[in-house]
Amino acid sequence: MSAQEHPLGISFEFFPPNTDAGREKLMHTRDMLAERNPRFFSVTYGAGGSTQNRTIDTVNAVRQCGISTAPHLSCVGSEKSQLRELLLSYREQGIDNLVALRGDLPSGMGGVGELRYANELVEFIREETGDHFQIAVAAYPESHPQAPSFEADLQNFARKMNAGANLAITQYFFNADSYFHFVERARQLGVEAPIIPGIMPITNYSKLARFSDACGAEIPRWIRKQLEAYGDDSESIAAFGEEVISRLCRRLLDGGAPGLHFYTLNQAAPTLKVVDNICSPH
Ligand code: FAD
Repeated sequence: MSAQEHPLGISFEFFPPNTDAGREKLMHTRDMLAERNPRFFSVTYGAGGSTQNRTIDTVNAVRQCGISTAPHLSCVGSEKSQLRELLLSYREQGIDNLVALRGDLPSGMGGVGELRYANELVEFIREETGDHFQIAVAAYPESHPQAPSFEADLQNFARKMNAGANLAITQYFFNADSYFHFVERARQLGVEAPIIPGIMPITNYSKLARFSDACGAEIPRWIRKQLEAYGDDSESIAAFGEEVISRLCRRLLDGGAPGLHFYTLNQAAPTLKVVDNICSPH
């Protein structure tokens, strides 16, 4: 960690905007979050290469502030030749961090591609570019939605780490025990690399509910009920969300989490409030 980095080891994730207004907003968000000295930023990638150019452009715009910025890269629906070209281009541009994923192809969008799972992508990156990239992969404390069992998913996670990943970032969750349990079980399988909790600030109930259903993250009943009761009162949702997520983050850090990775959705305020709460004495 450099002397400049935030002592907690925080990182922030963005998606590539597709309008001028979105790009302008992201640069403002980036500037505000950069003040908290994150370890890195990351930028998501549309499976099958659907946001490839926007991801690269966004990475290059974001990293102009001097903070390392990792493109996400998914293998589903892509040929090895395309992935090779992209990796070499990233290396040439001086990018040295990646988040390597399988991705999810929207239904009806072509075949699976040559690499079926993220462990194969990690192997491929190591074969093609050696140790150039620091590679992060995804972890699922509440299990990946397509996994046949928790055990099978955990074994697959360990395989992916053993293929040469340097760290893992989890899917978001609201139950700290699921994270602690996952880390403990992964350690028993010999995974030693940092497993960083992914944190989703709560700002909008209907979007969160839809997204959580799709990615298999459980919203505990007491949170759901409270958010439902607020209806359209976005101020109350934001205040409650801030309290719940700040408490979750404190518990994770107190329990030994090696950092926090925030899914910012390109908004500064909800993430900043949580970061500042967990840094203030409590
Ligand atoms: P994998 O690790 O390949 O796992 C997928 C499923 O296959 C799991 O059920 C696993 O148990 C199983 N499996 C894994 N390996 C094997 C194997 N060798 N044999 C049999 N079964 C196996 N999606 C995007 O499209 N773009 C993004 O930018 C993006 N960023 C993300 C960032 C983070 C931090 C996280 C947590 C998720 C992100 N996602 C993104 C979503 C991710 O692409 C999906 O969750 C996807 O369904 C799985 O990707 P993975 O890399 O975890 O897959």
